[in-house]
Amino acid sequence: MKRRSFLAGAAATAALTVSTPLVALAKTMKKETALGPLLDPWSGPNGGIPRFDQVKTADIKPAFTKGMDMLRAEIRAITTNNAPATFDNTVIPFEDAGRPFGRVSNFFGVYTSTMNDKAMQALDTEMSPVLAAFSDEIIQNDALFQRLKAVHDGRQAANLNTEQQRLAEVYYNRFARQGAALNKDQKTRMAEINKRLATLFTQFGQNQLADEENYKLTIDKETDLAGLPQSLRDGAAEAAKEAKQPGKWVFSNTRSSIEPFLLFADNRVLREKGWRMWVNRGNNNDKNDNKAIAGEILQLRAERARLLGFQSHAHWIVADNMAKTPEAAMGLMMKVWPAAVAGVKEDVAAMQELADKEGAKFKIEPWDYRYYAEKVRKAKYDIDQNEVKPYLQLDKMVEAMFWAAGQVYGLEFAKLSGIPVYHPDVTVFEVRRAGGRIGLFYFDPYARAGKRSGAWMNEYRTQEKFKGEITPIVSNNCNYVKGKPGEPVLISWDDSNTLFHEFGHALHGLLSRTTYPTLAGTSVKRDFVEFPSQVNEYWFETPELLNKFAIHYQTGKPIPKELVERILKAGNFNQGFETVEYLSNAIYDMKLHLAATPDKRIDIAEFEKATMAEIGMPKEIVLRHPAAAFGHIFQGDGYSSGYYVYIWADAMTADVYEGFQEMGGLYDKAACKKLEDAIFSVGNSIPPDEAFRRFRGRDVDTNALMRDRGFPVS
Ligand SMILES: [Zn+2]
Repeated sequence: MKRRSFLAGAAATAALTVSTPLVALAKTMKKETALGPLLDPWSGPNGGIPRFDQVKTADIKPAFTKGMDMLRAEIRAITTNNAPATFDNTVIPFEDAGRPFGRVSNFFGVYTSTMNDKAMQALDTEMSPVLAAFSDEIIQNDALFQRLKAVHDGRQAANLNTEQQRLAEVYYNRFARQGAALNKDQKTRMAEINKRLATLFTQFGQNQLADEENYKLTIDKETDLAGLPQSLRDGAAEAAKEAKQPGKWVFSNTRSSIEPFLLFADNRVLREKGWRMWVNRGNNNDKNDNKAIAGEILQLRAERARLLGFQSHAHWIVADNMAKTPEAAMGLMMKVWPAAVAGVKEDVAAMQELADKEGAKFKIEPWDYRYYAEKVRKAKYDIDQNEVKPYLQLDKMVEAMFWAAGQVYGLEFAKLSGIPVYHPDVTVFEVRRAGGRIGLFYFDPYARAGKRSGAWMNEYRTQEKFKGEITPIVSNNCNYVKGKPGEPVLISWDDSNTLFHEFGHALHGLLSRTTYPTLAGTSVKRDFVEFPSQVNEYWFETPELLNKFAIHYQTGKPIPKELVERILKAGNFNQGFETVEYLSNAIYDMKLHLAATPDKRIDIAEFEKATMAEIGMPKEIVLRHPAAAFGHIFQGDGYSSGYYVYIWADAMTADVYEGFQEMGGLYDKAACKKLEDAIFSVGNSIPPDEAFRRFRGRDVDTNALMRDRGFPVS
């Protein structure tokens, strides 16, 4: 049985850091201009590079203003054309418009997600409503919409190829969905709502970041570290030094710091303390509390959905996805839910038995879950995380993901030196195939202050070829904790999975071969975008890869075959927990947005309690992202009514894996080529269900997902 982890998928936040519809229009091309490094086309070596060495964040605001004015002028040129609208005089120039604006948006996205200091946060607060208003200004430009609509309506008679027709559809749909066809008063209200939402999204994110940075678990006595492996102690000691508390141990309020603590710390009182600090992010009834902000977001979204003619925000969002209706998404989730809960009950019973044997006089609580699950795992499968980690060196795992991309897609990765970066931790690689440049890959692996938590992929420049070949530039961003200086960074099995997951997004961007950037790479339906990334996780656990790259950092020996067998056998253990922890969030998200109305404020924490009672959430588990720190759905519209996308994509992923098995395994050349041709190269140039059928020859069989998790198939 193949083990797959939701940790990887759910730890990953949005594939793209920016989610306004406008930024999706961003592209790049060569022009003879000199507007400054934030706006200028990227020239120089390796197909052109972003000049992080020349960019000044203080210039971002004026650059935005300039970029917006340039885009306005380009749109005016389209709408003042007296000739009837055609693909060539409307869609093409619009696709080509806004490139300088797109570039400054990209820099802005990089700095707000990875270098978000006080100055950037202030700029973000200031710019968010401005950018939202600008987006609405374009969407609500009736002359532009009428021309796009005319091209869309006449697309079949206009002798366009399928990708051109698709582009006309995507533009029309994007404008119509955002309210381009509303009347004047409705448009005014729409713009007000979006502007207010943009401000609330930024506030929500900054509150969450503040609670992650301001709260710390500080330990004075070494005896309180009992159970923690040396690497965690070293990391905490380093963190204490940085916090000017030498001689102590500091655990920051981030997932990469708290989860290992909950896994290993023998001290139950400290486990509870750390757990409470972690789950109460955004929910401390202080100036960084997120509950009222989220409540207002829900009201505004409900009002906007009604303006657009939809029953709820959930209906509006899902209508544009593969799932089409909230009911279809809920259907898949509720198919999996009972089996996952049953798995948890079984695991908790085993944990309680073990705790009782040790003389514990308590019932398993949420802060005990990881700790006792780890003990049961050890007892039942003889797996110790500390036995595995020495084989998983971050550097080697990065080599491994490059190697796999070589085996599967024929890619090569050459480390570049002297390329400007925004932080010394970032490394840059040129991606090549058969001697030609495919694109650039920026890698930013470590946690630091001002960097968003979790792991994500970002696209600096999207692939395109409609006005000359433009190669993509993509990045992966993670939050691994640096160890002692000079020692290799060791990561967990799940962290390794996450690495491959994010790299799957990167490959999706890199392998794109579409004509138009709007249809390229990761610009796919929201419930499709996690599919290529989850597929890429499969290569991590192959013996071919582990034998070469899972090398003990001291002995230099590869991970023993029997240890890998034990890990894979233990894989289905804890599937219940991981599935419940994730699904509870996804179900909560959908139910919350189905319930929200414009006129009544929902208390998100109360709603969380009520929903968990309603669906029978095991009391030993809480949501992976408690409501007040559920940034996926409250820091932007991106994953709202869309947290289900991971399991939706996972159903496709599990089915594709079975397809590989039928065709000759994960390194079968023909199967790999089929995967690239059908899925990784097409972006949104064909409908997603069509892409899936090109690989599998039929629609998705969701039973593959049940088999993958070791759940019974009904
Ligand atoms: Zn992802």
